[in-house]
Amino acid sequence: MKPDKTKLKHAIVAATAAAVLVSGAITTQISEKSKGTQGNLVNKAKQLGYSYVSSKEELQKAKNGKLLGLFANEEMFQQRPEGEGDIYDPVVSLPEMTKKALDTLSTNKKGFFLMVEEEGTDEFAHENNAKMTIKSGQELDKAVKIAKDFAKKNPDTLVLVLADHETGGFSIEPVDDKDESGDGISQEDGPFAIAKSKLNFVVDWTTSGHTAVDIPVTATGKNAELFTGIYENTEVFSKLMQALGLKTKK
Ligand SMILES: [Zn+2]
Repeated sequence: MKPDKTKLKHAIVAATAAAVLVSGAITTQISEKSKGTQGNLVNKAKQLGYSYVSSKEELQKAKNGKLLGLFANEEMFQQRPEGEGDIYDPVVSLPEMTKKALDTLSTNKKGFFLMVEEEGTDEFAHENNAKMTIKSGQELDKAVKIAKDFAKKNPDTLVLVLADHETGGFSIEPVDDKDESGDGISQEDGPFAIAKSKLNFVVDWTTSGHTAVDIPVTATGKNAELFTGIYENTEVFSKLMQALGLKTKK
């Protein structure tokens, strides 16, 4: 299938795993005080003309232009055993960061590439913590809605939602006391309510590591057809380059 090279201006990729990284937006991976091997990266960013923000209020007030937001030294959630201080309540939510990133980047007339990543779905699945994995997924869902709303108003946009891998062997099962539940952290979690129904489900786990389960890729908007079918994960890169009408170096 030949991509339509004429109109794709914006590509938004939403994935399930790290922070938000934008050319001129937000990441949680670099600490304000970190020295690292490359010196103080916040100072470097400032020298390059980035506005630096570190709180929700500052983010909201930030004007358009190059923007660097750092809100935590590592993850923006607490990774502890289930029910013992495991918390998913980021100081700035993923949907808020996504909205600000879109508002900022969309002022560029040449278009933009935005990558939004929800890390909780991976990290909480490593702990076999279904409650928090689902909560993280719901936040990703809200961020995807913001991207889709943007795409509705800007039809020259591609929105791609995918994961780099599956974690935990997350399986949805009916509530059944006779079914084996696993042991340790891999014990079934739940029951959880099924929306618009009186039924419940439980989540069963097979591992605390990554799995080789196929992951779904959904694409909407310009050149979305390129992402149909079954393919190796590395193909996503080539397809994205094709969708944007860019050549890869051989
Ligand atoms: Zn992982």
